[in-house]
Amino acid sequence: MLIEEGSPYREKLLKLLEEEYAQEREGTHVSDLILCIREQVFRKLEPRAIDERDLVSYALGEGAHVALQRLAEKGSAIAEREITVDGVIGTIDLFDGVPIEIKTIRSDDDSVRPFHVTQLKYYMAMTNSNVGILLYLMVNNRGRPFRFRTITLNDSELAEVKKEIENRAKLFNDAVSSKNPFAAPHVKKNLNLVWKCSYCKYSQKCWSRED
Ligand code: SF4
Repeated sequence: MLIEEGSPYREKLLKLLEEEYAQEREGTHVSDLILCIREQVFRKLEPRAIDERDLVSYALGEGAHVALQRLAEKGSAIAEREITVDGVIGTIDLFDGVPIEIKTIRSDDDSVRPFHVTQLKYYMAMTNSNVGILLYLMVNNRGRPFRFRTITLNDSELAEVKKEIENRAKLFNDAVSSKNPFAAPHVKKNLNLVWKCSYCKYSQKCWSRED
């Protein structure tokens, strides 16, 4: 038996994943509004090459989602439910009377990430649901791999979230149409989100300019 490093299949797989990942997304998506709007504007106006880390994250995230969604579809849930409200497009992982957002977590830290809550709140607002469920798949925790959280918003909180979506969509669209990422809000001074800058392909350009 001979075991050799590598395979010609590597290039083929990467190309397929890249085609899938890079599919041009038209319109304004909830994911454009959750983290750094400026980064999303950059991505739209100045697309950069996809690297292997992007592809691995994509493949792992998609894999876990597909498995759970198939299971859910055997029940009453709708997987990957796409909704458009006031021009903003959202794709809800699972919808079973209420939106259910699934996140794959690779670290041991099971604390709730505020931006995951924000995303779920947006789906709750877009589906007029006072309740939403956040499911963490703790892939490296064999003892307790599932963490469920139920989020509840009253009607006035739901209305505030709707307004927030509208405002952030406007900021995103205005920056895209003026072809100016610097017109969009950034996260450089946001202690909860500044970590995004370490992974951002536009950080050099963004940080070279004072905001
Ligand atoms: S460097 Fe940071 S603030 Fe600037 S676009 Fe990237 S994520 Fe946003």
